This record gives sequence, structure tokens and C-alpha cells, in this order.
Amino acid sequence: MTEKSSMQSDYESFLHAACDRLGYSKSTLSLLSLAALEIKVEIPIIRDNGELAVFSGYRVQHQNVRGPCKGGLRYHPKVDIDEVRGLASLMTMKTALADIPLGGGKGGIRCNPRELSRRELEVLTRKFVKRIHREIGPNSDIMAPDVGTNAQVMGWIHSEYSAIYGHSPAAVTGKPLALGGSAGRDKATGHGIGIVVKTYAERYGTPLEGATVALQGFGNVGFHAAKALCDLGMKIVAVSDARSAVYHEDGVDIAALAKQKSERGLLADVDGYEALDPGAELEVECDYLVPAALDGVITKENAPRIKAGVIVEGANGPVTSEADVLLHERGITVVPDILANSGGVIVSYFEWAQNLQREVWPLKRVDDELERILTNAARHVFDHAAQAKLDLRSAAFDIAVRRVKEALDASGI
Ligand code: NAD
Repeated sequence: MTEKSSMQSDYESFLHAACDRLGYSKSTLSLLSLAALEIKVEIPIIRDNGELAVFSGYRVQHQNVRGPCKGGLRYHPKVDIDEVRGLASLMTMKTALADIPLGGGKGGIRCNPRELSRRELEVLTRKFVKRIHREIGPNSDIMAPDVGTNAQVMGWIHSEYSAIYGHSPAAVTGKPLALGGSAGRDKATGHGIGIVVKTYAERYGTPLEGATVALQGFGNVGFHAAKALCDLGMKIVAVSDARSAVYHEDGVDIAALAKQKSERGLLADVDGYEALDPGAELEVECDYLVPAALDGVITKENAPRIKAGVIVEGANGPVTSEADVLLHERGITVVPDILANSGGVIVSYFEWAQNLQREVWPLKRVDDELERILTNAARHVFDHAAQAKLDLRSAAFDIAVRRVKEALDASGI
């Protein structure tokens, strides 16, 4: 099995354990393991150099019993059906844990967006929508940004879908504000990580002022998480992106690193910061480790070397199921992805609801509602973990799986 396919097998192992604890049947387990619909399309485009290139695109709709499928669209060279399948399943659990009326889906195009021009990316995105438009939409499946995509890509999806069906802003979230995007969506996932960390620290009585953080990934989630954690008085000692990693024991300057990355495309070479080898940022001495890049980065190989006290899963699936067991044995707490990074889908839900109701919420309303929903979800997980003597991931899965099962039962499936 390749490392990529572990995304789905990790999900299945967490799901299997939850169904065992909850006493659910094998048929429930298989229903929650399988996706309702899997689409694969080939997308030909003419490159800027006049040559034809063909890219594989995927969309997986895992469950829609609690609401339309919801989940990001990823542009990355390692996208494949197993990865998309695993990510779609996680979205079902994430929306259920947040208790918002949506299901789970995910998509991706196997490409390197860094190697495509803006025109090529636009053509690729529009053609993908042309291929799958019958299966997506405000009442069936709503895409959003993920690795390698952003508000601009969502704007193209909105435009292409609306050209077919008429103005349909609720068909996609994470759009530019000018096209009906929501205030606060851009920062939502990272901002939500701050809310979850604050709620965790309050519950477990751990001080945040001066607590140290190592962060993997400095994209949408990583950057906004860094800002939110700094606002809580925490100190970011290590940061990495795909090509570089830096460390300073007194803390790095997030604004300076963001400026340098936008000007030079690299985090490295800041005066006084130590350059780290790729992956070493996961193993530095710190209170909190926030992997916010890709899945499967904390494995049974490096888990014994992790020195953080708490891992907060900013990315989807950064800790493999085998590593999860080892970390638990070592007394390292893992705040699971379906809770930690759910701020993004919660604000996507607000965007969808605003679009359907032709409303525009001010940022304060978005922030307040996000804080309310996410704090409730986190407290529910912490309470259930304490009552049932479970780790946080098991507690979160139990709550989510139970909610999806209740909806399946109520709908007569
Ligand atoms: P992004 O494309 O904006 O950023 C990804 C970052 O990871 C970039 O800084 C990239 O350089 C870095 N990276 C890639 N490979 C790396 C490596 N090997 N080592 C270190 N850094 C590496 O993507 P994003 O939207 O920030 O998403 C990151 C993760 O968060 C993904 O797992 C995604 O599924 C998850 N997530 C995103 C959202 C969202 O709203 N964007 C919501 C929930 C979860």
C-alpha cells in the first residue's frame, strides 16, 4: 500500500474502532466506509506552449444524509482517488461533529499548480466544472478551497457553474468577497485552530502565554493559525513550507516571514534564524505542534521522536493511525483534524447560508458564530473524552459517527 492510500485506511481504522465502541453493526460500518459517488474525469487543456496536456480530476461524495456534500478541491501532484476518498469521509465526520447541516465530499486535480500559468489554471478549472456540473450544486455538493486552490479558483467555479445554471453563488464557498464570499472565510481555518487551542487550554488548565509552537506549512491554514496563536500570546519557534524551514528559540516574526515568502517565495535566510532540514520542524522541542500542510507526515517512524506535548491537527490526516497509537502511549495529546481544522467548513456553511438567503453578514457576526459553534464542539469532545475515558480523536469520532447513524436511521436507510 502506498503512503497516499493510508488516508482512507486510517479513516477506516478510526471508524471501525468507533463502531465497535458504539456497538454498531457491520452493515453500518460498511455504509460509513463507502462513498456514495466517486467521479473521475480526464481534463485536456492546451498549454501556453501549444501542447496538449491531460489531467485527472476527482470528486468523491461520501455522505449526504445530514445535508449536501461539502468539502474542498485540492490541486496537487499527489492527488489520487484514495486520498480524495479518505478526505471526503473525514468531511462527513467533520460536519457532523460541528453539527452543521452538511455532509462530506472532496475533490482534487492531479497537477502541480506552481507549474501552470494563471490562464492554464483557469481553463483547467472551468473544464473540470464542465465535466462534473451535473453532480455538484447548492443542494448536492459544494466545493471550497484546499491545498493548491484559493478564492480565485472558487471564483472561476462560480462563474462556470453560473453560466450553466444562472447566478448560483451557493454552489461553491471560499469565493472572493466580490462574488458573494463571506467575510472571515479566508482566515477561518487558522482562526478556528486558535479557538480550539484556547478552549483546550481553558479546559485542561494549561497557560498559553509564552507556550511554544512548531508549525508545519505556511499556506492558508498555517499562516492564519500562526497569527491566531500569536494573538493568544504563544511563541512560534519553528515554521516550514514545502521548500524551507526556520527555527528560533525566542520565536520567529510571522509578519516578516510572510513578507519574505511573498517577495522571494522562501522562508529561509532570515537573519538570526536557524535553517532546519525538511521535516525537522516536527521534532523540535515545543509545547504545541501544528502540522498544517499535508497528510501522513507523523508516522510510526518519527512518532517516537516527537517532543511536543500536544499535537493540533491543522491539516487533514497528518497523523497516521499507527502513529496515533504510539503518541497516545507516550502521553502526547492529539487534537484531531475533524475538530481542530473545522473552522473552515463552519464558515463555508455560513457563506452557503448567506448566499441561499441573499444575506451579507458582517465579520463580527461570522467570528462570533464561529466561536460559538467551535467552542461547543470542542467542549463536547473534551466532556465525552473525560466521561468515557477516551483520547480526543476517539471521543470526536464517537460523537460524529453517532450523529450520522441517527440521521441514517431517521431517514429510513
Ligand atoms: P495551502 O496550499 O494554502 O498551503 C499548504 C502549505 O503547506 C504551503 O505553505 C506549502 O508550502 C506547505 N507544504 C507542502 N508540503 C510541505 C512539506 N512537505 N513540508 C512543509 N510544508 C509543506 O493549503 P491549506 O489550505 O493551508 O491546507 C493545508 C492543510 O489544511 C491540508 O491538509 C488541507 O486539507 C487542510 N485544511 C484546509 C482548509 C482550508 O480552509 N484551506 C480547511 C481544513 C483543512
